Amino acid sequence: MSDSPVRVRIAPSPTGSPHVGTAYIALYNYCFAKAAGGRFVLRIEDTDQSRSKPEYETMILDALRWTGLQWDEGPDVGGEFGPYRQSERTDIYRRHAQILIDKGHAYKCFCTEQRLNELREQQREAGGHLGYDGLCAKLNATEIQANEAENRPFTVRMKVPESGSLVVNDLLRGEITFDYATIDHQVLLKSDGFPTYHLANVVDDHLMEITHVLRGEEWLPSLPKHVLLYQYFGWQPTQVIHLPLLRNADGSKLSKRKNPTSILYYRDLGIIPEALVNFLGNMAYSQPDGSEIFSLDKMVDAFDIQRISLGGPIFDIDKLTWVNGQHLQNLPAEALVQRLVAWRYNADFLNQLMPLMTKRLTTLGDFNKYCDIFFLSEITVDSGAVTPKGKEAEDTRDFLQKFVWELETLVQFDRDAVEQAFRVVGNLHGWSMRETTHAVRLAVTGKTVVPPLFDSMAIIGSDLCRNRILSTINQLGPLGKKKLKKFRESWDRARAAYTEPTT
Ligand code: GLU
Repeated sequence: MSDSPVRVRIAPSPTGSPHVGTAYIALYNYCFAKAAGGRFVLRIEDTDQSRSKPEYETMILDALRWTGLQWDEGPDVGGEFGPYRQSERTDIYRRHAQILIDKGHAYKCFCTEQRLNELREQQREAGGHLGYDGLCAKLNATEIQANEAENRPFTVRMKVPESGSLVVNDLLRGEITFDYATIDHQVLLKSDGFPTYHLANVVDDHLMEITHVLRGEEWLPSLPKHVLLYQYFGWQPTQVIHLPLLRNADGSKLSKRKNPTSILYYRDLGIIPEALVNFLGNMAYSQPDGSEIFSLDKMVDAFDIQRISLGGPIFDIDKLTWVNGQHLQNLPAEALVQRLVAWRYNADFLNQLMPLMTKRLTTLGDFNKYCDIFFLSEITVDSGAVTPKGKEAEDTRDFLQKFVWELETLVQFDRDAVEQAFRVVGNLHGWSMRETTHAVRLAVTGKTVVPPLFDSMAIIGSDLCRNRILSTINQLGPLGKKKLKKFRESWDRARAAYTEPTT
């Protein structure tokens, strides 16, 4: 074990497919820790009970392991500061919420949802600051006891001084001043007894002896609350660095509507991990010698936090492909073979395909004819052929868009889930199974004859399927931003009201 006191962490929430932004943040944490001889910790922040899923946690761990950014402590590898999964630490947070109550820095809030909604509405109408008005902070001991005796549900909120300001420091951004008046009495413990991000994050960073927090700039507004919590507990705050967010080409925050954002998408596309890591190392950072192609070890060796630039780095897929090409072209032939084998030319992957080939092959070479759809980075789709007989291109575009949204919700992307998605969207859109499968088959494979579609899609994977469909939507003429928003709202309503036909 190293003697360096430096300890950093990434703290992903398992609420979706593993995001490239997580790998980006992991990379800078990794480099920072390794350059200082310190330790890199992985903590799973699964306190949001409704959105966290064990399947997502597995996917995040798999995806990060694939990047090669290996952590020293975490839920899978253990460590002396565990457990590393927040859902296993709820007692710790409850104890700490009580400590804050006892010290007079937090209080039980018995306000009902209804009151909070009304308050928000009033504040919105008045056009002022939105936030809790501190009503329950003023309850006296008798009132609190009466509420408790009635077993009224409560949250625990942190107190915030009424006036004045708090100066916080970011190692790259310098001092930032926050007026207390703009800081909400944040809920720390929800009425279900689970902590919010803020409490769990601060308590864990302290107990896990994290020295530096490197995270995305979207967390900057949380910083004053965290600094206050450190003060309330009487703890030394961590040093913080907020890294610039990855952006789409138009400067907006990287979103899956404009770019594939799942690490697994890039893996399945045939990007190799060192290329993804190298590409992410070019975001917000430049090597002292100006080189654009480098290994992780080289990045660690030359790592200097001051070289991080705060401009919004653009996640440019063409650039990523170029970096990937540079790495692939530098590999000796034997190593390249190994990469292909590790990717999809292996028995595990082929074994998934073979059941789909039953009674189809007349020569072994036929395999390529049917199965190229599992290996190609790009497929060509004749958008004219996607529209089923008797339907309009616009209608097809609308159907495909709904279908993409449905696929996004699937946690388990297997054959049955895919089939169910066809049924649901087909029923809601008023298309037959034949029509829906025709359009999707063409969009995902570019062909009319392919191995069984549901199985094939499950193997191709959710991200690649969605991306291929989105490309087809673009060819058919995508909806503008405003129309898309409306369309989405009406789809969400229809989807929520959906019930399976009883026949
Ligand atoms: N759970 C947060 C996330 O999903 C962690 C943010 C932080 O690093 O403080 O990114």
